[in-house]
Amino acid sequence: MLKEDERILVDGTQKIGIKLNKNQIETFSLYLDLLIEWSQKINLTSLKTPQEIIIKHFLDSLTCIKAIDLYSNIDKNSIVDIGTGAGFPGIPIKIVCPSIELFLLEARKKKSIFLEKLIKELNLKQVQILKGRAETFGRCTEHREKYDIAISRAVAPLNILSEYCLPLVRVRGLFIAQKGRSYKLETEKGIKAIQFLGGELIKVEKIQIPFINQNRYLLIINKKRNTPLEYPRKEGLPQKRPLYF
Ligand code: SAM
Repeated sequence: MLKEDERILVDGTQKIGIKLNKNQIETFSLYLDLLIEWSQKINLTSLKTPQEIIIKHFLDSLTCIKAIDLYSNIDKNSIVDIGTGAGFPGIPIKIVCPSIELFLLEARKKKSIFLEKLIKELNLKQVQILKGRAETFGRCTEHREKYDIAISRAVAPLNILSEYCLPLVRVRGLFIAQKGRSYKLETEKGIKAIQFLGGELIKVEKIQIPFINQNRYLLIINKKRNTPLEYPRKEGLPQKRPLYF
């Protein structure tokens, strides 16, 4: 990582209240290199420059940490990142909070191969890759209602995403959806689906990403009750026939 890129990473994390140590900076640097290298072979990110990747992937992912910490002591949790793609937001969170147990759920095989290589190269412990669709894992007793926190960024509108995520969260756990400007409309359309699936929206945290004039919103949803057994529906159905009341 060039000195000026490192400065953006270090200053940016400080702006969101995180102080990185030398080892964590080196880990982010390696992540950046691998992401750029593999993006030439498979579709991992549309962002081209190191600065863009640092700000819009690394820092954006890390903005979740403080917010999660307000609702649940993040260090003691198992977190499943649904539709993680190239590891966002899960891997940056894991680099900063090494004691979490992280599960990276991803449907696309090529991306899972990248994730396998990544966790090996970054020497990350207690990280598992769940290869397949969220609907499949949500219907499987080994995974259903087992995770303390489900988190997801840029995967699906809230009413669809809730059917992917809430079945995997244990009762009294959290589901955190990282959203952009569309959050209001998505919330209006998705609030009943959330309730139906056992959740309750408790807070919308407005987040500022360092260095860019864009807000993000973290929708903090509590799992209050068990999800009805018929949900999630079979693969593809949540997207084809989204829950809408
Ligand atoms: N979360 C990452 C990020 O913010 O950079 C990736 C976002 S990418 C636009 C959406 C990812 O979600 C893709 O990698 C896709 O394969 C995955 N995905 C979409 N629907 C899924 C499902 N039902 N189960 C598992 N993965 C899914």
